[in-house]
Amino acid sequence: MNESFLEGLQKITEQCFVQENMSSHTTFRTGGPAEYYVRPKRTQVAEIVSLCRKYNIPWLVIGNGSNLLVGDRGIRGLVMELGREAAEVTAEGNTITAEAGALLSAVARVAADHALTGMEFASGIPGTIGGAVVMNAGAYGGEMKQIVRKVTVLTPEGQEKELTLEELELGYRHSCIPQNDYIVLDTELELKPGDSEKIQEQMAKLRSQRSKKQPLEYASAGSTFKRPQGYFAGKLIQDAGLRGYRVGDAQISEKHCGFVINRGSATAAEISELIRQVQDKVEADSGVRLETEVRFLGDF
Ligand SMILES: Cc1cc2nc3c(=O)[nH]c(=O)nc-3n(C[C@H](O)[C@H](O)[C@H](O)COP(=O)(O)OP(=O)(O)OC[C@H]3O[C@@H](n4cnc5c(N)ncnc54)[C@H](O)[C@@H]3O)c2cc1C
Repeated sequence: MNESFLEGLQKITEQCFVQENMSSHTTFRTGGPAEYYVRPKRTQVAEIVSLCRKYNIPWLVIGNGSNLLVGDRGIRGLVMELGREAAEVTAEGNTITAEAGALLSAVARVAADHALTGMEFASGIPGTIGGAVVMNAGAYGGEMKQIVRKVTVLTPEGQEKELTLEELELGYRHSCIPQNDYIVLDTELELKPGDSEKIQEQMAKLRSQRSKKQPLEYASAGSTFKRPQGYFAGKLIQDAGLRGYRVGDAQISEKHCGFVINRGSATAAEISELIRQVQDKVEADSGVRLETEVRFLGDF
């Protein structure tokens, strides 16, 4: 451990931890420790990046950890959680501005309170708005691309920069953020005037559909695989005879074959082995190679 680096971090934020177990910060509820873990306010992010650069410590950013599989051997360097400490949301006219750490459910609540329609699809996705922009999260025919107007990012050199919708290059579960090592700081959404009661009803309806169809009673990272063009991942997995298939405590959900679930004490190694076997078996069965939607972080 680098004591001077740690002292520097502690001067910036009290929300600073060492050897922090990532199973507490991911919805898969597994993964080894992060060497350094911070949960900064928006205003502290640039200073932390500059400290990392000074001490040559690698950094990465997470939101709510709902699309991540962290290796059992953990993450070297610093993990920065843009979560509840950077979660301010404001609404003006048809525009909502949210700091990266605001949960989609919280932003959706503000939209409904201000009778703004357009983000009903996202109210049940358990991520932050920052993570949702990075992933171009989507559901029920909606996606972030339809509502994002612009995003403020921090570049790896520590400069703030505004990206327009076009510059974000949002596609299916894709944006330009990871390849440029940008950190999402704020997101501006453009919504439309609607009826508050109808918006709330639609959000409640979609949340109820989720709990009927998805294994929300288990830890997971949502859909494990991307949807291959012309197919559904869950159907291909089911057709390959893999419903309920297990490696240790990692399992293909019986309720929804597109979800790998952690039945309790699955290691990241078990989950990644299950994913690999599913990819191989589905390919042998259908000729389609499934790609993961879940992001792998750290050492396996
Ligand atoms: C039960 C369940 C249901 C789900 N349903 C859906 C669904 O319907 N549709 C859907 O699209 N997804 C779904 N997901 C997946 C997940 O919720 C989304 O991908 C979500 O957008 C991830 O947000 P997050 O804050 O958790 O990001 P994380 O998982 O923490 O991170 C995801 C990626 O974004 C990066 N990142 C996060 N925040 C930032 C930031 N501020 N700046 C730069 N990079 C950042 C991370 O490095 C990582 O590469 C589901 C997950 C679960 C567990």
